[in-house]
This record gives sequence, structure tokens and C-alpha cells, in this order.
Amino acid sequence: MDDRRSVESLRGNVCPGPGPRHTKEAMQSLCKECYFRLPKEMRNALYRRIYRGYAQALTQAIGWLASNPSPEQKDDAAKKLFPDQAA
Ligand SMILES: [Zn+2]
Repeated sequence: MDDRRSVESLRGNVCPGPGPRHTKEAMQSLCKECYFRLPKEMRNALYRRIYRGYAQALTQAIGWLASNPSPEQKDDAAKKLFPDQAA
């Protein structure tokens, strides 16, 4: 994500985290769920200034979230892979 897109994302109400489209508060980087799943260092990195590493920190956070799905996201993925076994 480049600087311009990271600022648009920050201003908007769509959480850039992975998974089905979900919302966040304007002027927050991510929704609370995505944010609190991040390791502490990554959360702290999101307080970098725009144009001073913010876009990189956000891109890194989204990448981390995508490769570390929450337990619910893992369940959803399993249901897609094995729909006949879904309860
Ligand atoms: Zn989110």
C-alpha cells in the first residue's frame, strides 16, 4: 500500500484487514479486532507518521493478519474446503 492509499484507508470506514469486508472507525488504521490481533511491535508501528513509515507499517500489519488468521477465519476456511462437513 502506498502513502496515498494508506491515507485514504485511514480516513475511510472500511477496515483494510483480510477477510470479508468489515468496518472500522475513521482515523483508525484497522478495526479493533484486527488491531488487537497484531503483535505489540506492529501496533506501535501504526503510530508512525504518515509519509514516515505509516504506509509500510500498515502494509506489514495487513500481511501479518492474512498469514495469521483468527480462529473464526480458520473455521470459515475449513468450511469452504470441506462444505459437506460443515455443521
Ligand atoms: Zn479488521
